[in-house]
Amino acid sequence: MIAVYPGSFDPVTMGHLDIIRRSARIADKLIVGILVNNSKQPVFTMAERFEMLQESVRDIPNVEVQTFEGMAIDFAKKNNANVIIRGLRVISDYETEMQIAQVNRSFDPNIETLFMATSLEHSFLSSTIAKEVAFYGMEVEKLVPPAVVSKFKEKYNK
Ligand code: ADP
Repeated sequence: MIAVYPGSFDPVTMGHLDIIRRSARIADKLIVGILVNNSKQPVFTMAERFEMLQESVRDIPNVEVQTFEGMAIDFAKKNNANVIIRGLRVISDYETEMQIAQVNRSFDPNIETLFMATSLEHSFLSSTIAKEVAFYGMEVEKLVPPAVVSKFKEKYNK
């Protein structure tokens, strides 16, 4: 099974990494896709997000990082993937994730969206929270991988 895990990853967090590690145990190959043309205004450039992700998954042999534009479904097709992985945290994720999954399914019923439940300790972790914590100079070591910790230091000069 080839799977894609699309997202903004601005920046990658321990929550994302947990989903990546667990998905990589199920998939033969997992391609993490960083979305280029997101409506959200990112804090990190595409090159920075790519570099941080690449560094963080270096020890997982069947994981590859790519960037993509447009829809996740097309990104999946381009990579011959039949599965899109999404992480589910709290109830509030459910509504949007279900909408995205239904739309994707209407475009291509052969590509399945698989939801992976987050680990308890990452339930309330998001890239936004990690950025806030870093911005105020608090400890981010438990929230993001080392490659992101150093980038935060550069960015916020702490
Ligand atoms: P997007 O902008 O597409 O939501 P994100 O980078 O925020 O991109 O998230 C990508 C995916 O990872 C989404 O499926 C999201 O629900 C999931 N995710 C984000 N944070 C966590 C976390 N702490 N635990 C599990 N899944 C998460």
